[in-house]
Amino acid sequence: MTLLDVDDLSVRYDTRDGALHSVNDVSFTIDDGVNYALSGESASGKSTTAKAILGLLPDHAEIEAGTIEFEGRDLRALTPSERQDLLWEEIAFIPQTAIDALDPVMTVGAQIRQAIQTHREVSERKARRRARELFETVGLDPDRVGDYPHQFSDGMRQRVVIAMALALDPKLVIADEPTTGLDVIVQDKIIDNILQIQEETDSSLLLITHDLSVIAETCDEMSVMYGGTVMEQGRVENLLLNPSNPYTMGLKNAFPALDDDGDGLVSVPGKPPQLDEKLAGCVFEPRCPFASDECATTTPDLEELPYRNQRVACHNTDRANRMREEAETAST
Ligand code: ATP
Ligand code: MG
Repeated sequence: MTLLDVDDLSVRYDTRDGALHSVNDVSFTIDDGVNYALSGESASGKSTTAKAILGLLPDHAEIEAGTIEFEGRDLRALTPSERQDLLWEEIAFIPQTAIDALDPVMTVGAQIRQAIQTHREVSERKARRRARELFETVGLDPDRVGDYPHQFSDGMRQRVVIAMALALDPKLVIADEPTTGLDVIVQDKIIDNILQIQEETDSSLLLITHDLSVIAETCDEMSVMYGGTVMEQGRVENLLLNPSNPYTMGLKNAFPALDDDGDGLVSVPGKPPQLDEKLAGCVFEPRCPFASDECATTTPDLEELPYRNQRVACHNTDRANRMREEAETAST
């Protein structure tokens, strides 16, 4: 069953320098029990999409269009207090920097208990026990529930936030770059934690990350974003093995090198687009080696490929795929 349904979402920021069209016509769905990844370079609109879902956009942001439904409920129509309940009980958020989610003057155990007791009728004693259990689940010493946030390392603090996010058995966990800035070993442990807990609680995951190896390890389905639009979406294994959008190929460092200097596959050259005006054509056109005249004038729709249950926004999918396959064959 569909848990989260985002349909044609567009978000604009009004800044001193004018409007930024940061998310444009983004659609995707997450089914029960599915781990879903949103990927793409910096500034592609991943966090903005997550914040729109969570209702955490700043005041100068405007959802221009689209629907966001969670189990059929219209999230855009929630009152602040309804949203508050939903956020803890059904959708949990693990932000990029743990420190943002924690109160520096309260022990972490007290914060977890408060989260539980605000939303559930449980005794102090039960809430305490639950906090200790959660600590154990995320691999922290339960005797440290009485410590303050600053007494933990970055990686441990991130686990505290994960423990807190899971306190109420949410149906969907949204994690925005939960391991960025942590060392690789800690990253692995945290990803293992999230997966283990998620398996135990049978929740779905929306994982935002630019790390394709983490996605390959943890997620079932994904969307690749660029310039606020979805370039490609589908099953992770298909998409990473057979990227059909030139941008996805670039992310994978699997760009067929067109200058033919023997490099074979290279990373995507160039810079992300300006989003201050809605561009005609494909947002990736200025950087795309496969671009044709059509790409400069007509925005490609996200269209179902006739195979692999994959959707791609590109006018030149066939040509790009053919060249990628040739380059791959040549380099093996
Ligand atoms: P990153 O990988 O760096 O986290 P992202 O994919 O999460 O990037 P967003 O943070 O959603 O990207 O940003 C998308 C665009 O919106 C960027 O051009 C960014 O500068 C702009 N933007 C994001 N937050 C704000 C804000 N609060 N005010 C104005 N513009 C913003
Ligand atoms: Mg972000």
